[in-house]
Amino acid sequence: MTGTLVVVGASLAGLRAVEAVRADGWDGPISLVGAEEHLPYDRPPLTKDYLCADECPDTTYRGSARLADEFGVTLHLGEPATALDVDEGTVVVGDRPMRYDALVLATGSYARSFPGTGNLDGVFTIRTLDDARALRGALRVGSPKLTVIGAGFIGSEVASVGRELGLDVTVVERAPTPLAGAIGERMGQALTEIHRRNGTKVITGVGVDGIVGDTRVRAVRLADGRDVQTDVLVAGVGAAPCTEWLDGAGLTVEDGVVADATLAAAPGVYVAGDIARWPNALFDDVLDGPMRLQHWTSAAEQGARAARNAVAPSRAQPYQTIPYFWSDWYSSRIQFVGVPDSDRHDVETSVVAGDHTGGGPFTALYCANDRIIGALAVDMRAEAMKYRRLIAQNTGRTAALEFAESRRR
Ligand SMILES: Cc1cc2nc3c(=O)[nH]c(=O)nc-3n(C[C@H](O)[C@H](O)[C@H](O)COP(=O)(O)OP(=O)(O)OC[C@H]3O[C@@H](n4cnc5c(N)ncnc54)[C@H](O)[C@@H]3O)c2cc1C
Repeated sequence: MTGTLVVVGASLAGLRAVEAVRADGWDGPISLVGAEEHLPYDRPPLTKDYLCADECPDTTYRGSARLADEFGVTLHLGEPATALDVDEGTVVVGDRPMRYDALVLATGSYARSFPGTGNLDGVFTIRTLDDARALRGALRVGSPKLTVIGAGFIGSEVASVGRELGLDVTVVERAPTPLAGAIGERMGQALTEIHRRNGTKVITGVGVDGIVGDTRVRAVRLADGRDVQTDVLVAGVGAAPCTEWLDGAGLTVEDGVVADATLAAAPGVYVAGDIARWPNALFDDVLDGPMRLQHWTSAAEQGARAARNAVAPSRAQPYQTIPYFWSDWYSSRIQFVGVPDSDRHDVETSVVAGDHTGGGPFTALYCANDRIIGALAVDMRAEAMKYRRLIAQNTGRTAALEFAESRRR
């Protein structure tokens, strides 16, 4: 393609988009549009080292320094895109229409806030560097009692950091266990144990009815009437795709921007990262429709694939992946490969190594349709990638369990 590539979203997927086409030798003009003023930076450390290290680490991607000088990219940082017109081939940035010949949309997700927290002091969500900076400061004022709503990845990582800082930490989770929807309640119970053995109080199976406090948070009121006193409250209640600005653009937006297997959402428009919903051909027998991932690895890969397809649409290739994510809780590394989908009645979970009852180390396999579709590894770092290969090879249930058995011998 000749013409201009515009990438909207200056984070992981956006950066990888630029890097991929430049690595391929595509030398056309590129504009990178980002709502935040920062150069692309890495988010996973924001709920890990960034919050607890004595020295505040710089999480800017190394590649960010190459964007302007080496890659000749025109940067529009601190300037959100506000509208898209696919018929005209324009994106509105500020109040200016910007023409594109190929477009990559990579606007990611925003953190959901907890209803009723309004402008109360002491309440935080965490998605951006600025969020992390604010929370880092609050965790260092005296020795605050920290309460986290939501025992998902973000909430659990914040709780871990709180304990590392020596704080009194409570996690409140409405579901019976952390990550029940993703890994199932049985394995979720193992994650509760990880919290407990590290001194975090975990209240599961109880919702939050409201937040107590006039100008500053004082307590979290639980649905069973109890109050959990708190000085700092973090809402880890999930993230939603940043798609509002695409209203009226003519794209199909259904909890993400719906795309085809090549990540194309409209002619010349490709999507990548947390906003992308696309059919992952590797799992079309076990998934009901297109999937959306919110993981680092797939965002990076999709950024590269979307941009390559955008500048060479006649040679567009499908994107397919075995999803992978990791999360660090205390000194434990949790890894998942495949499609969790553990709510399905036909997914069978087998612990194939270690013991999950005390919180690990252990590995569990998830099988459906008589084949392995997922694996959870807690503190067994080498295992996850071995099972990722088996999933990619469409390995049957029996063969996967035999493989696990052979690793135990
Ligand atoms: C705190 C934290 C910890 C995480 N830890 C892990 C982990 O341990 N393991 C793992 O696998 N994954 C982790 N993730 C998930 C991973 O970081 C994300 O999946 C990844 O960042 C998604 O990349 P992205 O480029 O699609 O979107 P994002 O990183 O969300 O970036 C999107 C960018 O687009 C910008 N934007 C939004 N709207 C507009 C607009 N209208 N115009 C211009 N720009 C716009 C945003 O400001 C943002 O900079 C974590 C995420 C967070 C927030």
